[in-house]
Amino acid sequence: MPAVVIAERCIGCKICDIRCPLDVFTMVPLDKPKKILGRMAKAIAVVSYPDECWNCGVCRLDCPTDAIRFVFPEDMLHFQWSPDALPDGALCGHRSWQG
Ligand code: SF4
Ligand code: SF4
Repeated sequence: MPAVVIAERCIGCKICDIRCPLDVFTMVPLDKPKKILGRMAKAIAVVSYPDECWNCGVCRLDCPTDAIRFVFPEDMLHFQWSPDALPDGALCGHRSWQG
């Protein structure tokens, strides 16, 4: 699931829009400035292209007001990585120094 902006916490700082590597966000101007968490927000971040989000988490990490949430896809939650599941050589020699 893509990033979701909690509108009540968004102060319109644009950090998520700047940092997102996939350009998922659009800053939408408010009709009039609104006081949110002690700041006068003039815009709000909107996830305009949710299908482009790859859940990298950069926006959430950098948002100063914790206004971004995720619910990770079910298959990501249950993925278990194992080197034994990969073909020989897939780890670029990683196995060789492990002996
Ligand atoms: S970084 Fe957070 S507060 Fe800033 S515009 Fe994005 S969602 Fe809003
Ligand atoms: S999780 Fe990554 S790709 Fe998705 S909206 Fe946030 S910064 Fe962009």
